[in-house]
Amino acid sequence: MTDQITPQPRENVGNIPAYVPGKPPVPREGLTTFKLSSNENPYPPLPGVVEAAMSLVGQMNRYPDMGCTELYAALSRRFDVPVSDLSTATGSVALIYQILQAYCDPGDEVVYPWRSFEAYPIAITAAAANSVQVPVTATGEHDLAAMLAAITDRTKIVIVCTPNNPTGPALTQTALDAFLDRVPSHILVILDEAYVEFVRMADPVDGVATYRARRNVVVTRTFSKAYGLANFRVGYAVAPAPIAGALRAVSLPFGVSGVAQAAAVASLDAEPELLERVDALVAERDRVFAGLAEVGWDVPEAQGNFVWFGLGERSADFAAAADAAGIVVRPFAGEGVRASIGETEANDRLIEVASAFTPDM
Ligand SMILES: *Cc1c(COP(=O)(O)O)cnc(C)c1O
Repeated sequence: MTDQITPQPRENVGNIPAYVPGKPPVPREGLTTFKLSSNENPYPPLPGVVEAAMSLVGQMNRYPDMGCTELYAALSRRFDVPVSDLSTATGSVALIYQILQAYCDPGDEVVYPWRSFEAYPIAITAAAANSVQVPVTATGEHDLAAMLAAITDRTKIVIVCTPNNPTGPALTQTALDAFLDRVPSHILVILDEAYVEFVRMADPVDGVATYRARRNVVVTRTFSKAYGLANFRVGYAVAPAPIAGALRAVSLPFGVSGVAQAAAVASLDAEPELLERVDALVAERDRVFAGLAEVGWDVPEAQGNFVWFGLGERSADFAAAADAAGIVVRPFAGEGVRASIGETEANDRLIEVASAFTPDM
């Protein structure tokens, strides 16, 4: 018995890096604590969303609508895109897994910026594909020339993350178009727009217009950030029908729950309130950015709902100082700290903590 061979996972499964979730705040006596570690929306659900979700709770004994009929219809109306060009899933993380699963053979290469979204290397390794990481610039921007140069005969997918999590800058449409013009047409480009609602810049990327103009672009978006539905796990992809169809083909049956579908539809219906909240968060982000500049910080351009401190080896110290001040941020050991834009009081404390850490550069 003892010398029997046991089942072994595929060899690279052992190489999958662990996803490090943002920590919850440590309770502190006499101090309200805030979570700024997961880029969540600090607002409660949009009007009508709780009611819509509650109406599905009583049907938890039934499987959800596998066709996500109402959600597809709502997304189709909202973006003027045929249902055939949409795919929904349990968060845009799931969409990224599906894209990799549908398009990558073992050993295929996926080119992406780094540091970027933590789930990319996990999803790529899980799909038995190979990561080709292209360092972002000193100011946290995609190095598009280096990404083009990293494309080889084995490249199957290129990921663009705009705004880039965790560093913050977003691409211009002009830069993206010049890049896409030079990516071979057989390579699929993922345009991860998880924070698109927060972008306020000249010449912003329009993912849906980009999808309309190209046959090798898949846009992924989420209800987790601006819409405040992180707990319900729902995101969507917009892509030409053959690509969207491939994503649906590999999707988990009944993945998106009924409550999530209903909440997403109701959230799309609450567009005016959504825009108000996003505007308020953007105003807070810009206030934090300016406040940080006043205390000597030159953080990268922040186009998402977070700011990045390139603290290097001092990242853990900064996170500890934030903890002591009752705010939890997300340290990336040896690289930097990402802090989400949260409640006004939390943002004030962030500026205060940062004022004690002058930047290295
Ligand atoms: C948060 C995030 C996502 C998606 O999250 P889901 O909750 O899975 O929809 C995707 N990409 C980036 C860059 C993110 O930061």
